[in-house]
Amino acid sequence: MQRTLIIIKPDAFMKKIVGKVIRQFEEEGFEMLGTKFVKMTPEQAGKFYIEHKGKSFYEPLVKFMSSNPCLVTVWGGSNVIKRSRAIIGKTDPADAQGGTIRERWARDGRHNIVHGADSPESAEREIEFFFPYGEGLYKWEQREYIKK
Ligand code: UDP
Ligand code: MG
Repeated sequence: MQRTLIIIKPDAFMKKIVGKVIRQFEEEGFEMLGTKFVKMTPEQAGKFYIEHKGKSFYEPLVKFMSSNPCLVTVWGGSNVIKRSRAIIGKTDPADAQGGTIRERWARDGRHNIVHGADSPESAEREIEFFFPYGEGLYKWEQREYIKK
């Protein structure tokens, strides 16, 4: 089973659609393995988005993501990385396919409701970023938490 990291961004809280967003992932058949309510520091957000350092949107993105709490979630499922990116939709809602999370709820190409890891490598790095050693993630089959 593949795992991915999905962050429900502060704008989802502002719009009070956190539950609706979670529902999209549940309806796709993914299972939640763990979650954390996190207000990132600017340093943390900057580190999380390090791949974008130097781009014009980096600073405002870091500010947005550290301005208020996010709901960090880990999901498991078959091909979950690709399939979750598909239901999230393109970065800018103007380009996103109808029915995707971003097409339905994003305001613009920054305030776009969710983050989803885009490759197995970034998924594992991002999971480790928020859940070191996987601690706090639940193994449903074994009915136990991952231990350090
Ligand atoms: N972003 C932005 N302006 C842009 C492109 C991206 O503010 O022109 C923000 C947006 O919140 C996006 C995040 O930076 O989700 C990461 O960008 P990326 O290109 O990785 O998009 P994603 O993988 O989230 O679709
Ligand atoms: Mg990305």
